[in-house]
Amino acid sequence: MTDAADLLTFIDASPSPYHAVANVSARLDRAGFERVADADRWAPAERAGHYLAKGGSLIAWTATPSRPDAGFRIIGAHTDSPNLRIKPQPDTGRSGLRQLGIEVYGGALRSSWLDRDLGLSGRVALRSGNGVDVALFRVGRALLRIPHLAIHLDRGVNDALTLNPQQHLSPIWGIGPIDEGGFLRFLARELDRDPSDVLSWDAMVDDVTPATFLGPGAELISAPRLDNLISCWAAAAALTSVGTDAVPPAHRCVICLFDHEEVGSESPSGAAGNLLPSTLERIVMAVGGDRETLHRALAGSLCVSADGAHATHPNYPERHDPTHLVQMNAGPVINTNSNLRYATDAISSARFKRACEIAEVPFQQFVMRSDMACGSTIGPLAAARLGVSTVDVGAAMLAMHSARETCGSADPEMLRKALGAFLHLE
Ligand code: ZN
Repeated sequence: MTDAADLLTFIDASPSPYHAVANVSARLDRAGFERVADADRWAPAERAGHYLAKGGSLIAWTATPSRPDAGFRIIGAHTDSPNLRIKPQPDTGRSGLRQLGIEVYGGALRSSWLDRDLGLSGRVALRSGNGVDVALFRVGRALLRIPHLAIHLDRGVNDALTLNPQQHLSPIWGIGPIDEGGFLRFLARELDRDPSDVLSWDAMVDDVTPATFLGPGAELISAPRLDNLISCWAAAAALTSVGTDAVPPAHRCVICLFDHEEVGSESPSGAAGNLLPSTLERIVMAVGGDRETLHRALAGSLCVSADGAHATHPNYPERHDPTHLVQMNAGPVINTNSNLRYATDAISSARFKRACEIAEVPFQQFVMRSDMACGSTIGPLAAARLGVSTVDVGAAMLAMHSARETCGSADPEMLRKALGAFLHLE
């Protein structure tokens, strides 16, 4: 299977951050990595490496080198994407239609969710003895729809579309009066459980149309969640191939795939939390190091934050800096912002350029227009928390934060190779 086809498979199987973590876990299992639990005492890995999964986040690391003071080569990415999330008491409706109440998660392009066949996925907390069990669920069929208002009822819609998230984005999913408890009973049926067992959920809406190639030569990819499942996929592929590299990396290779980047990363499993620093400390301690060893290991570490990058939009070229135009299928993009919305500096940028040279893939450079505000990534957070030199890079894409994004079909392979070479950098 080509890299791009494998990416499409991964994206289609990962409608929520929890599913992305489950799918990366399965790939790590196949590559011989061993899962560890937060509450366990960690020992040196006897297999290819270890990984820790926590909700919608995952950190994985190689067993070699076993030296406690070995520096880290860290690839960071995020598992979440902007979408619509189901409220705790979602059953609502008007005008004889049943609807679900939603909240907008992250900076979604709201209009992109209209007139699509939408499914549901996420996790459900279930009654179990004196405690709670968690089950992933996925309804991969068309279940929900947010219809546009007909143009005859809003003649100005093509000049300005305003979508109030409370008023205009509740999906319809049936006909009849408001069905109190209907969503809960639906989940119970899907999970084959008694409704009284369903206590709560982290449920979200996804586009059920499969990811696909575009263009006469299949040069492009149309898919949901490219920001940032393309980087999660590439990071996992780079890490799992380390074991088959002719010369093993001299440093310990780590990938950290965080949830909650789209809403600021402040959570127990987010990039602004303690998950990565405490995991790195435990990795060092598991092989006999102490805090002094950890700080020596960090002093010799490098980090790459991989996230979506903006390809130049052909219909809006004026929105891009004219000397930093970015193309799809032209290699990973190094993102720079002198106000540190990206963590890149001259040194970290140069190191990533070396990785691209070694991997024999081209690279591109992006800066925002100087008169426009810049987005951000987990890069500056990781750099600040760890004190590790960090570069922000990513695959070029159009329509970032749309329910459906577009990228180049040659870029997944180039990003994977560049990240793989980064793991080998001195
Ligand atoms: Zn992103």
